[in-house]
Amino acid sequence: MKLTIFQTTVGQILTRTSGFLQSVSSHSLQPYCGCALGSSLCGVGCYVRHNIHITRGREWGSFVEVRVNAAEAYRSQYSREQAWARRSRGKFGIFLSSSTEPFQPAERKYRVTRSLLETMLELPPDFLIVQTHCPQVVDYLDLYPELGKRMQIRFHISIETDTDQLGELPKPASPIAKRIVAAGRLRAAGLRTVITVSPLLPIAKPEEFFARLTDVADAVVIDHFIGGDGSANGARTLRTALPLAMGAIDPGSVTLEYREKIIAIARRHLPGRVGVNIDGFAGRFLDGRYNASGNWVWGLER
Ligand code: SF4
Repeated sequence: MKLTIFQTTVGQILTRTSGFLQSVSSHSLQPYCGCALGSSLCGVGCYVRHNIHITRGREWGSFVEVRVNAAEAYRSQYSREQAWARRSRGKFGIFLSSSTEPFQPAERKYRVTRSLLETMLELPPDFLIVQTHCPQVVDYLDLYPELGKRMQIRFHISIETDTDQLGELPKPASPIAKRIVAAGRLRAAGLRTVITVSPLLPIAKPEEFFARLTDVADAVVIDHFIGGDGSANGARTLRTALPLAMGAIDPGSVTLEYREKIIAIARRHLPGRVGVNIDGFAGRFLDGRYNASGNWVWGLER
């Protein structure tokens, strides 16, 4: 598929969350519109491909709009949105990103995500969740410890399966091994690191998979498309090629029983550090609890 990249400017970059993201953060932030990873494995079931406001009829994976003034827009919105978030949602928290990939190849040239992170050093949110499929997230390791002094910061790295080639599905944009190494580097730098198994795809050797993740992650999130894609009973994902391809590899994997089986295995390897669906994205883990200050404490703090 031909990829068209063009530069654009935006009036606003911070979007107040609604729907299922509301319980995760007050805002989402998209440095780009569109995603170059759209024709790889994660793009098949990507929820954004159904968002007509974003695609405007274009094929998902065929376009990337580079929001070149993102940092400037963040700066101009900061005070108002911070005040609104603290008043309405308790904390000013940012999810980077929910409908694009902040470390996609265009970032190497345009450095929009970097410009935003640098601006956050000066104008920090209360917390930041960095969500990515790209091992290039470690390119900015020079910034993260400083950001961590100014805000709570958590990294979510998506690894949906243990197999790089799943049946007839496209390959992932980056090998699983590279994402595992990236997670390990973040964690070794003292940064909270979560593997988001989202959407949960067939896992050939789940015991080995989760045993491997214990070395590189503080926690995992198990997110099946049923109950996890923001629609009733996974209706959104059922419109894509993903369920059929999953069923061809493991017929049970398209059921919630499969999710429960995988959760049970993950809990054995990471006790107190397994989250499910949106609760997991929000940092609310099975076996966790609220402390006296009203903050969620993971089942097992490290
Ligand atoms: S990286 Fe994220 S936004 Fe891009 S196609 Fe994959 S799931 Fe969708």
